[in-house]
Amino acid sequence: MPRWTDPAPCEDDEQLFECPECGTRVCTTESPVECDCGAQMRNLSVPRPE
Ligand SMILES: [Zn+2]
Repeated sequence: MPRWTDPAPCEDDEQLFECPECGTRVCTTESPVECDCGAQMRNLSVPRPE
């Protein structure tokens, strides 16, 4: 299970993504997410059970 220091500052319906190339993090409801640097961002959020 991935760990990160700060809880995702995202809305309930958003997920936290991180760029593996430059480390940029973004909250979005879109997927997949492409970073400004052109890399595909990883989803750091775990799906929440309803
Ligand atoms: Zn990037």
